[in-house]
Amino acid sequence: MPIYEYRSTGNGCEYCRDRLEVIQKISDPPLRGCPRCKAPVEKIPSKFRACIIETPDEVMETEEKLRGYEHEGMWSHAAELADKTGLEERAREDYKKAGYNM
Ligand SMILES: [Zn+2]
Repeated sequence: MPIYEYRSTGNGCEYCRDRLEVIQKISDPPLRGCPRCKAPVEKIPSKFRACIIETPDEVMETEEKLRGYEHEGMWSHAAELADKTGLEERAREDYKKAGYNM
């Protein structure tokens, strides 16, 4: 389900003042007020989120880091990170490139 971001338009509470994330069905009506303090909220348009809706931020971050390491030829770093994140195939490949015999 997509995550929608809202922020309060007035004096919201701590929960809605900066950014409020709500998981909603596409068919759900947009949120009108903060679920905690009832302050009026507006939807934050976020094109970026729309394209990675199914991908948690950590996965993206890890992927970026991995690519960075691989780009720099830091295979053992890449392998360790891949290993830690459960990307076994990737880890094995990177270990091989790092010169380890797996
Ligand atoms: Zn609030």
